[in-house]
Amino acid sequence: MIPYGRQTISEDDVEAVVTVLKSDFLTQGPVVPQFEQEIANYCDAKYAVAVNSATSALHIACLALGVQQGDFVWTTPNTFVASANCARYCGATVDFVDIDPDTFNLCPFELEKKLKEAEVKGCLPKVVIPVHFSGLSCDMEKIHALSQKYHFRIIEDASHAIGGRYKETIIGCGKYSDITVFSFHPVKIITTAEGGMAVTNDSYLARQLQLFRSHGITRESEELINESHGPWYYEQQQLGYNYRMTEMQAALGVTQLKHLDDWVAKRHELAQRYDQLLADFPVILPIHSQEHYSGLHLYVIQLDEKKTNLDRKYVFNELRNLGIGVNVHYIPVHIQPDYQKLGFQLGDFPKSEYYYQHCISLPLFATLTYDQQDQVVNTLAQILLGQHS
Ligand SMILES: *Cc1c(COP(=O)(O)O)cnc(C)c1O
Repeated sequence: MIPYGRQTISEDDVEAVVTVLKSDFLTQGPVVPQFEQEIANYCDAKYAVAVNSATSALHIACLALGVQQGDFVWTTPNTFVASANCARYCGATVDFVDIDPDTFNLCPFELEKKLKEAEVKGCLPKVVIPVHFSGLSCDMEKIHALSQKYHFRIIEDASHAIGGRYKETIIGCGKYSDITVFSFHPVKIITTAEGGMAVTNDSYLARQLQLFRSHGITRESEELINESHGPWYYEQQQLGYNYRMTEMQAALGVTQLKHLDDWVAKRHELAQRYDQLLADFPVILPIHSQEHYSGLHLYVIQLDEKKTNLDRKYVFNELRNLGIGVNVHYIPVHIQPDYQKLGFQLGDFPKSEYYYQHCISLPLFATLTYDQQDQVVNTLAQILLGQHS
């Protein structure tokens, strides 16, 4: 089975992890701060805080921004559940903004409409979490302008988008948001096995992220509330978690980061090749922005109802049966049973639902070979066009 995504591990990764295993620190050593500094440098951001997953990063990003019970947090339905769950961990109420059907990203016009209504009802969001779906940036200028007008904060869920750009700015630079979150799960662009990062330019938010990552504990003398009892002394000053990244994970991150630009370029090369090979298929190809360089985590096609009667489930099953490990991104979050319990219903966000009925993510990763890609395309030809090669 050709998977839809997979990690690339080379000898330098293996050596880096083994070196850490033989060193004095498996956790809380020098490599996590090194990885953080390298990510901050890469993104043109001041601070980066490494954690054990993007889910944890989203959670502590919400906490750092003061999200709590009584607050509203908005995100897109076309995302992994974690982008919405993070607000619920803090006791806040989640709502969604439907997508732009061309980019599959949170639609800024829908956002503006919903903000106007919320202002009247007195339930404006404290935080909005745009997700750069497939690696293509959301319209951050527009979302940022709305945040100034309606006074909400922004967490960019850039789990798909490390290595990508918004206009001339690198994703993570924080020009249009308070905190940006990356995921290093093996299907993402670079990996630390499990792992995530929260990036910010705000020193207060950075310190809050560090505290929430590690039990809310400080040992810094200038931060102590009470007088120190001695050199062993620490204080828990707020309720935090153990969301720390290990040294092995960070070591992997450092070596992976060296390949990031090459791997994103390789994804672009493969995506262009898909575009050419699939041009005459009864599918809608993903749009590629000239303006914003995508991280290209995903290559998503949609079956074109005007050109084929075959339904998505049939095509999906056939592809899987023939060894092509396709996937579907995403089941809209609001139709998950746990969200239906909160009152959301099918029909609430029709553009996300329509997109969901038609989308298929094709295999895309840095080491996908042309032969494998041809196999994907030929298998699709067999199913959609009845062609046998
Ligand atoms: C993968 C992903 C997450 C969660 O990342 P983990 O590191 O697995 O916790 C969150 N949001 C989006 C959009 C993702 O794709």
